[in-house]
Amino acid sequence: MIHSMKKALAVTLMLACSLGAAGCAERIKVENAIPDSRIEGCGVYVKKVGNMPEDFILGMDASSVIAEEQSGVRYYGFSGEEQDVFKTLAESGVNTVRVRVWNDPYDENGRGFGGGNCDIEKAVEIGRRATRYGMEMLIDFHLSDFWADPGKQMAPRAWKDMEIGQKAQAVHDHVSDCLRQLKKAGVKVRMVQIGNETNGALCGEKRWSYIQLLMQAGSKACREVFPDALVALHFANPEKAGSYMDYAGKLSEYGVDYDVFASSYYPYWHGTLDNLAEVLNAVSDAYGKKVMVMETSYAYTDEDSDFSGNTISGESGITKAYPFTVQGQANCVRDVTDAVVNRMKNGIGVFYWEGAWISVGSESWEKNHELWEKYGSGWASSYAAGYDPADAGKYYGGCAVDNQAMFDPDGRPLESLRVFNLMRFGNETELSADAVSDAFLTCDLNGTIALPETVDAIMSDNSRSPIPVKWDATDAELEAMSTGGANTYTIKGEAGGFPTVCRVKVEEVNYLENPGFETGELAPWSIVEFGKADQLYVENKPTDSLSGDWHMHFWSAASGSVDFELSQTVASPAPGTYKFGISIMGGDGGETDIRAFMLVNGEETASVPLKITGYNNWDGALIEGVEIGEGDELTVGIRVKCAGEGNGAWGKIDDAFLNLTVKK
Ligand code: CA
Repeated sequence: MIHSMKKALAVTLMLACSLGAAGCAERIKVENAIPDSRIEGCGVYVKKVGNMPEDFILGMDASSVIAEEQSGVRYYGFSGEEQDVFKTLAESGVNTVRVRVWNDPYDENGRGFGGGNCDIEKAVEIGRRATRYGMEMLIDFHLSDFWADPGKQMAPRAWKDMEIGQKAQAVHDHVSDCLRQLKKAGVKVRMVQIGNETNGALCGEKRWSYIQLLMQAGSKACREVFPDALVALHFANPEKAGSYMDYAGKLSEYGVDYDVFASSYYPYWHGTLDNLAEVLNAVSDAYGKKVMVMETSYAYTDEDSDFSGNTISGESGITKAYPFTVQGQANCVRDVTDAVVNRMKNGIGVFYWEGAWISVGSESWEKNHELWEKYGSGWASSYAAGYDPADAGKYYGGCAVDNQAMFDPDGRPLESLRVFNLMRFGNETELSADAVSDAFLTCDLNGTIALPETVDAIMSDNSRSPIPVKWDATDAELEAMSTGGANTYTIKGEAGGFPTVCRVKVEEVNYLENPGFETGELAPWSIVEFGKADQLYVENKPTDSLSGDWHMHFWSAASGSVDFELSQTVASPAPGTYKFGISIMGGDGGETDIRAFMLVNGEETASVPLKITGYNNWDGALIEGVEIGEGDELTVGIRVKCAGEGNGAWGKIDDAFLNLTVKK
């Protein structure tokens, strides 16, 4: 596999040489400023990002590409032909490629830790290829033998026991040596990053007095080898209030020499874009630094394609500001970029993270596992266990971001990859639905089943809008819903070219609101008092409720003081025949006159007597057969009048219901 790849590469190089009169040093000119005519007909809509500077960094982290290719992954261009993925990136408007460098990502037997086995040799090869297609490079030094992020910042094994002075020298020499190799290979380095997501830790050190020494050492090496390159420091979790100003303050206090204060921004973890702009602007204002988004990405699908679970999927309960679609992914990148260009005073760029990290195969976990282990194309191999036993050692596996790539599982570019070009121009496409929601409907089993005429859609410009839907309910399904009693049904349909479903719940609907007082409020019930009861209120006492926690309570000591009417009015109920019920219990009533009643347009049409006969002896009233016509007003309620005896009449009222029994 490696052999054939090298052969393919050699052919490309020969072609490049024969075409360029000045020889191999000549870069291949890639047409990445797509003329308007080619923007039309794109599969994504992209709203123009205004005011974008010519040299704004539209970046792609492509660290895993070599391991991917070694594992057999092939990449294709928009024409459908197999071509160098870096050519495709350049054609898509990417102008800078980011690559991570680990010191020594191999075990004692030379077996790679995975995650692309990103050593300096791979960075040089990626740098050569990116440079060939006119792109510049950002070199991301993790200063570790494997992943460095807010959760771990382990020193490389070779530096583990060094005291801080020695370690700083080692950082300097490592960065210097790597950058010299890149320079020698003719790689154009635009930016160098000292540490990755260094939230208060770096290279095994947790004291800022030490961390800053390591950063200074790396920065110095960069200034020596690539004096024109920018030095970036990279942090994560912009949503943690105050943390960025805290880091920037420490860096200033120690006089760390750097140009760019960069942040990761993953929309599902890192707060709002408003917050991101605010915290980066604060750093920029206070310390005069350039700012940027160093990593971002978004899912284009819920699906996993390599038998190894993804960090983000439909089931993770995240807030979906964008649907998991190719268009949603493009909109997300566009909006993040717009925030950096137009809402940050010193914003210089955005890098998409690992847009070319895709599945190494579609056959089985076993086959893929072999490739991940052999070529390091998964996030971690089992060989990383010795260095990182707690994480990689337990959870090693494949790609966790294949559903956030900008290439499909076969290596073909998604339309979202065009976003880098399109953001500069914007394009015109007809607004269309990009994702549609399911519909939910609760119907009265004695009422009419009317499926909704629209469903909610997210449009290609990420706006929300109801759109017409066509349901495929069969006559048999419609009949079943009308006559099948209480049940649930799923009806398939189509809206805006997308399949959707309506989940219909058919049940006996209670047309009363707050029927058992469970809101803890009286409304929308009302009380008219004819006596003056000592106590008459909605009470929370589950043991005294017929169901739930709440009920209406009354008690009064004086004779004849319990005399009230509790009622609720339903304005214009659907015409038909109704039944009403309500329950009461109580005692010490003496002579009582208690009645449940129904009023139609203010006239009593039916009533039923009730008795209070002791604690927990609930008496239930049921009035049936009351007909309601078009526009009628229906009031239901209970009149309670007690002479009282002993300590005074008391009682509890609960669980009213009003149901349609026959629809007119
Ligand atoms: Ca996966």
